[in-house]
Amino acid sequence: MSTTTTTTTLAYRIGDADAECRHPVIIGDDTENPLVIGRASRWHRNWLVTMTGADGSEIEHNLKRPAKGDKGVHMAAAFLAERYAAGAIMAIPLAEAQGQAPLPIGPVPLLHPRMAVKERNDRNIASALKAFAGLAEHHWRAYGGFPGSDNPWFVRCELCGWTGPKYWSHLRGRNGNPPSIARHLGGCVGEDEIRELIPAYRQQ
Ligand SMILES: [Zn+2]
Repeated sequence: MSTTTTTTTLAYRIGDADAECRHPVIIGDDTENPLVIGRASRWHRNWLVTMTGADGSEIEHNLKRPAKGDKGVHMAAAFLAERYAAGAIMAIPLAEAQGQAPLPIGPVPLLHPRMAVKERNDRNIASALKAFAGLAEHHWRAYGGFPGSDNPWFVRCELCGWTGPKYWSHLRGRNGNPPSIARHLGGCVGEDEIRELIPAYRQQ
């Protein structure tokens, strides 16, 4: 008789972020039947999970900060895997889950809706206006309101069409220098073209 090892740990992988910078937590074989058991996202230092309850309702839960040295996204994924193994949440086919967060069309709000009322102050409005002006100058398009400098913001590179989460603190450059000309992973248009299109690089 062969021995079977049972484990309570469910294997999962973290998928690419959607337009709201939420990463799907995926179980199952990639080619066979990948299933999404929930989504993990960060808001400042806290990690949030969204999941579908056993009754079909959408649930959001704030897991707060990960323990020192732990990665928040793994804390969130492990939480979802445990809830799923306990039968408390439902899994959704990956293709269906991807259709649930399409890229928004048209204008987006100035400030991210998750910003609390007390954060909707003159200082943050000024920062948001500056950030949107900076995105326009550097040929980025935002798919949501300004979430703050150190929160992921889902953007599109208007030079090549790449999309993904970026941080305004990285996109704005530092000490009067423009941000890295390597705009994002995967390669963009050539540096000569970038210098041609974005005045900030011409003095370099
Ligand atoms: Zn690009």
